[in-house]
Amino acid sequence: MSFPFSSVIFLLLAGCSKPSVEISNSLTTIGQTTPVTVHVHDPHGVSKLTATLQQNGAQYQVWQTSDPTKGPDSAFSFNIGVKATPQLRDGPARLIVEATSAGLLHPGARSEHDVNVVTQPPSVSADSDQHYLYLGMADLATMNITGSYTSAGVRVGDQIFRAWPMPGGKPGHFSLFAFAWNMPAGTVPLVYATNGAGNDVTTPITVVFPKKEQPVYTEHQIQVSDQFMQKVLGELDPNGTGDPVARFVKVNTEMRKANNKTLADLRLKTADHFLWSQPFTRQSHSQAEATFADKRTYIYHGNNIDAQVHLGYDLAVTQHVGVEASNDGRVVWAAPLGIYGNCIVVDHGYGLQTIYGHLSRIDVHEGDMVKRSQIMGLSGMTGMAGGDHVHFAMQLDGVQIDPKEWWDSHWINDHIARRVELPSFSK
Ligand SMILES: [Zn+2]
Repeated sequence: MSFPFSSVIFLLLAGCSKPSVEISNSLTTIGQTTPVTVHVHDPHGVSKLTATLQQNGAQYQVWQTSDPTKGPDSAFSFNIGVKATPQLRDGPARLIVEATSAGLLHPGARSEHDVNVVTQPPSVSADSDQHYLYLGMADLATMNITGSYTSAGVRVGDQIFRAWPMPGGKPGHFSLFAFAWNMPAGTVPLVYATNGAGNDVTTPITVVFPKKEQPVYTEHQIQVSDQFMQKVLGELDPNGTGDPVARFVKVNTEMRKANNKTLADLRLKTADHFLWSQPFTRQSHSQAEATFADKRTYIYHGNNIDAQVHLGYDLAVTQHVGVEASNDGRVVWAAPLGIYGNCIVVDHGYGLQTIYGHLSRIDVHEGDMVKRSQIMGLSGMTGMAGGDHVHFAMQLDGVQIDPKEWWDSHWINDHIARRVELPSFSK
């Protein structure tokens, strides 16, 4: 078999991809000691790798290795920063990483990356209040943050609640935060600030969990009838095949999880000010058929097939009743959403949002401003609902919380309006 000369050259070139150096894109800030990861690709391996910081016309070699690598792809992790290079000053700098190829007569590779040097870590202090917390519910903390930071707020376990500048031009910051229904007891909420350069400062909030008043979550059995299973599968898994129980459980588990993720992501569509000034309202004349964080066991033909936690209130009136906005806000979702059926989400600012599920009709659009008690559509039983009701829920920075405090003007006064300026709030 013979090839024309030109295709041999082509094959040689194709088998010899160019060397390259890649600095992780997430690197934006250099602090005291900042981890850096560099990926190097060179078909011959590299014999030497150096990292240099360039600032104000000066060059500082901040790291190097002369351990040769053999494979074509390698990753290097090292620390750079003000601690090892005290000549660095606050402000922009450029990180340059150069690789020398191990192949004789082969070119090396180089990459440059703009960074910001921050010599001082931020500092935080929390208010001196005793914060009375209830499982699954919210509170507000004020704080002072100084220095340069990229992210700050309250951290509870692995959940983060953003800090916002105090309203009314007052100094300082505040965060609305929640102690989630499933947060392990003993977790201490922390005020935190981080500058993205490996500097992370925290200080604990003083919290009290009044024992007597903690919610007690109840357990319920949901009898899944053949009719309900048919309805759910027909609506939420119309093209599915196979065991109906397995399909039902999949909808109830995986679709629920995906829908809750969609809801949580709406936290990014929030106003940076209060859109409301009065206590939240509960759907008029409604009966609560289920409350927040009820544990539900699903029984089908006598078998226990699934268990879920119900993160809202099921408020029933009559069929096709007008669904009322719980407070002033802006519609950030008005569309079908899986198990929630036709669903509306209203943003109230600072990460606080209300959710209305199972509607038979939606009469608002994303972006609409709504007023407290305004009718936004009609109740129904779309999605995972066995009867006509409004599934009413609330979330704070994407964490679903018990709405009941927000219906209580005294709670709002004691926990919110006393600490930040809530314009024209009246008890
Ligand atoms: Zn519900």
